Amino acid sequence: MVDRPEIASSNESSCPETVAAPAGGVLHVSLGALRANYRHLRTLAGGAEVAGVVKADAYGLGAREVVPALAEEGCRSFFVAQLCEAAPLLPLLPAGAELFVLNGLSPGAEGACAATGAIPVLNSLNQVRRWGAEAARRGEALSAALQVDSGMSRLGLSPAEVEALAAEPALLSGLRIVLVMSHLACADEPNHPASEQQRLAFRRLAARLPAARLSLANSAGMFLGEDFRFDLARPGIGLYGGQPVADGRPNPMRPVVRLQARVVQTREVPAGSGIGYGFSRVADRPMRLATIGIGYADGWPRALSNRAAAFFGAARLPIAGRVSMDSTILDISALEAALRPGDLVDLVGPHQTLDEVAGLAGTISYEILTSLGHRFERRIEREG
Ligand SMILES: *Cc1c(COP(=O)(O)O)cnc(C)c1O
Repeated sequence: MVDRPEIASSNESSCPETVAAPAGGVLHVSLGALRANYRHLRTLAGGAEVAGVVKADAYGLGAREVVPALAEEGCRSFFVAQLCEAAPLLPLLPAGAELFVLNGLSPGAEGACAATGAIPVLNSLNQVRRWGAEAARRGEALSAALQVDSGMSRLGLSPAEVEALAAEPALLSGLRIVLVMSHLACADEPNHPASEQQRLAFRRLAARLPAARLSLANSAGMFLGEDFRFDLARPGIGLYGGQPVADGRPNPMRPVVRLQARVVQTREVPAGSGIGYGFSRVADRPMRLATIGIGYADGWPRALSNRAAAFFGAARLPIAGRVSMDSTILDISALEAALRPGDLVDLVGPHQTLDEVAGLAGTISYEILTSLGHRFERRIEREG
């Protein structure tokens, strides 16, 4: 039998005006699984330090919950993408922890960045100069990370800029370089030759810069072997339960997210009925349907129209017709159990993983997580 959880009103809900009304969906976030994933990656890292990448609100899961949970596991280095993400997290950090801003130092943000204590990842000579000028203005040394472009062409000092910096070390006066890093473009494809080329380029470029901790690997990069782990690994998706490497093997990470949708209404329709917008599905037989209160406005991709399914216990309920903005129709004809308004069905859960949903939607787990909307009731589970 399927358990029917009490309709809970949670103060974690981000649907603010609805204290008594149940939300259209429930997003469960297991901090226990998150912590287990951190421990797993730390074991994999051997002696290397393992950071927590908590950009984009910890991939949509809630950085204000994730940061303290990782800190309790001993995590002391955190990464966000933008300075605006840093301010609310800095007060949550344990003493001695560092928070890095991956996108670096935007023009005009020098004073604000120095005032927060966040550490910019300097991605160009121009950023190095501006951060050095800020240090001079304040009359104190400022911490910084340096990123080098080892071949991805996204962020970081070019090899020519690294040479320019090596030729003029005074550019770094006033700066305390605490980390030298780069990022891998193809780490999720285990045999891609670019990873080894980037590793060699990173070593070569880092050798031209002041000695500091070195960091190259994201989640997938950690699985490429010891040579890729350097002093500090920077996992994100693996912490949140996504499959780091597309190698056909089972996902080594524990699922952190479970997404459930609430049934709004059920109905029976005769053969020939059009189902949903555009009648992209027409009933070829009498059908029983259930409408759930989650749609593309909640980050449930419209690309899943007539694909994927929901699950009631282990029973598969295929999506029928197009995913709407606020609702999705399920074919429950084959379901033996009764399904009633208020019941919860699984969209991401034991029978349909995050990566399966992403694959069916033609995207990656990262995009599913970071697109999840703000109307769910959020249940943060601390144990387990
Ligand atoms: C997002 C990001 C990470 C984390 O990557 P995952 O693939 O989620 O582990 C690490 N480093 C940089 C520079 C990033 O932008």
